[in-house]
Amino acid sequence: MTREAAALRPPRRWPTVPLGTALVVEDEPEIARLVQGYLEREGFRVTVASDGTQALELFARLHPEVVVLDLMLPGTDGWEVCRRIRERSRCPVVMLTARDGVDDRVQGLELGADDYVTKPFSPRELVARVRAVVRRHRWGGREVLRVGELVVDFRRRRVRRGHKRVELTPTEWKLLEVLASQPGHVLTRWQIIERVYGESFEGFERTVDVHVKNLRQKLEPNPQQPRYVLTVHGVGYKFAKTPHESV
Ligand code: CA
Repeated sequence: MTREAAALRPPRRWPTVPLGTALVVEDEPEIARLVQGYLEREGFRVTVASDGTQALELFARLHPEVVVLDLMLPGTDGWEVCRRIRERSRCPVVMLTARDGVDDRVQGLELGADDYVTKPFSPRELVARVRAVVRRHRWGGREVLRVGELVVDFRRRRVRRGHKRVELTPTEWKLLEVLASQPGHVLTRWQIIERVYGESFEGFERTVDVHVKNLRQKLEPNPQQPRYVLTVHGVGYKFAKTPHESV
């Protein structure tokens, strides 16, 4: 099998477009189940941790898209979990705080939590807040990105080049979303794999190159001299901040 064919061969479990993983950290099983149910209906894959130590282990393993974090936990408490997450990640954190715990909220936000919901909470409100922080984080705080003649509409999942709509496969869209959410920011192939294909990926690094090539065919005026999806030699790829960027 040639290298090209190997890269194109689907992995055993060909990943569908993954929805983000939400890590729910909650020691009360009933609340955990409730939150899990609501977030799953929203489209997240949900994993529950029932204490702080397990939360940090799962965080390192799953690279979740969002963490819902109860503060009162056995062992390592929610503040400590939040602090440790912030040491290595900007992953959005929504805290669940006690009703009257004004200090909890202040401390939580100071530790870098993105939002909080007070207990007892409305699951709908929690879901709305989770959705909002994920949206802010996922797309770098914008719903539409314009670079040169490209318009990437994250919310509607559409992309135009000039007046022409560009049709992308779900994987190409996800790849574009990951890169264009942080224009100018270089991602390694493995970072891209993690974000585009998720944990279940069993393919090759080269798969990224193949999808980048396909994406360029659709987005770039001249795919041989890309303006938008740029190769950073020896590192990975980045999305251009401007259409005339040099790497
Ligand atoms: Ca608790």
